Amino acid sequence: MLSACLLLFGCSSTEAPPNLIIIFADDLGYGDLSSYGHPTIHTPHLDQMATEGLRFTQFYTGASVCTPSRAALLTGRLPVRSGMADDRVRVIFPPSPGGLPTEETTIAEMLQSAGYATGIIGKWHLGHQEGQLPTSHGFDYYFGIPYSNDMSPATSGGARVQTYPPLPLMRNTEIIEEEPDQRLLTRRYTTEAVAFIRNHAASPFFLYVPHSMPHIPIFASDAFEGTSTRGLYGDVIEELDWSVGQIISAVKEIGKERQTLVVFTSDNGPWLTVNLAGGSAGLLRDGKGTTWEGGMRVPGLAWWPGTIAPGGTTVALATTMDLFATAAGLAGVALPEDRVMDSVDLTPVLVDPQQEVRDMVYYYRGTRLFAVRKGPWKLHYITQSAYVGDAPVTQNPPLLFHLDHDPSERFNVAAHQEEVVAEIEEAVRQHRAALVMAPSQLRVPAWE
Ligand code: MG
Repeated sequence: MLSACLLLFGCSSTEAPPNLIIIFADDLGYGDLSSYGHPTIHTPHLDQMATEGLRFTQFYTGASVCTPSRAALLTGRLPVRSGMADDRVRVIFPPSPGGLPTEETTIAEMLQSAGYATGIIGKWHLGHQEGQLPTSHGFDYYFGIPYSNDMSPATSGGARVQTYPPLPLMRNTEIIEEEPDQRLLTRRYTTEAVAFIRNHAASPFFLYVPHSMPHIPIFASDAFEGTSTRGLYGDVIEELDWSVGQIISAVKEIGKERQTLVVFTSDNGPWLTVNLAGGSAGLLRDGKGTTWEGGMRVPGLAWWPGTIAPGGTTVALATTMDLFATAAGLAGVALPEDRVMDSVDLTPVLVDPQQEVRDMVYYYRGTRLFAVRKGPWKLHYITQSAYVGDAPVTQNPPLLFHLDHDPSERFNVAAHQEEVVAEIEEAVRQHRAALVMAPSQLRVPAWE
């Protein structure tokens, strides 16, 4: 397959490879941007990214909660392969001993080896004990919080959370503040991200900006609080939108807009059980924590003037895991060959939105395969709602939905599509037979 380097640049040895910026919102839903249909949240900078770039309508995360989703993005692999999936714990907590195994290769490690400067500004959530922070996984520079912003005795009231240490704000491996003012997190991340871009104007760079917001508890700075039509949640999204505008402006300021791919997406769907403090999956069913579409289909925007034609929309299936192979293509380096990858280079779609690069999407919840998408069809083996107390339900026979016709997953057509079900079941049988599952690294924290 032609890499982006070959396809677009002829791979001249004197030409620096393109920069990559991935902006990753936390718990932002499919329906939370104006360019994805939200009626009252105003996101002009993200909408401009869409107008000048490419909007994916079928872009998926690797999991429906933070830790495994982040592992999937950075490793290009399903979390069951890396050990970052667990049925009970599901994410890393402050007392958790686990973290992303060092044997995993992150996008940052791959690009660092290819001569890129690498930075992460924001929430890590892949392990925070010694040797597990971003600087041990290919990032030259880290500024942010090591796990979720609700794992903080200062902002969350639960008895268990009160046993946690104060929420740390870190620079590289040092804690520089405890319990930072969360109203300023988006603003401070933005300042850091803009500085990183300015400081690396001369070298290829990979900048990963996993925002803490809009994960609860949500906060906006004074400049945004009380300003949106959607209440505090809208204020938070509009501040993230402002942040995207600042990052794009910085790329233009250093004159690298034609040498920089910027991707905006989210780690999982909206947290529906927190009511008004959570977002919206639009017309998609359910949200965070589930394998319904609302849990794992998220906005996906790609911007790269001169390479991505303006104003495109694509229905091509794509996942956050594909950003690994896309990054390898940018840098002109080969994918790791000593492991199974779940990543395909999205460059053909970026260049031509009519192209398709993948046919299958796997929806794992923890270590269990709950659902599978093949083309327009989605088969559910197990379903579960986000709502507390809603236990997993084994679907026997499995439920089948045609997502092109029925994006809200309302009409089970399995009884009329026996051949489709059989075809997907065969693909699943092969997937399961080949799957080597790593032991869980999300080891049980002391309180479990
Ligand atoms: Mg999340």
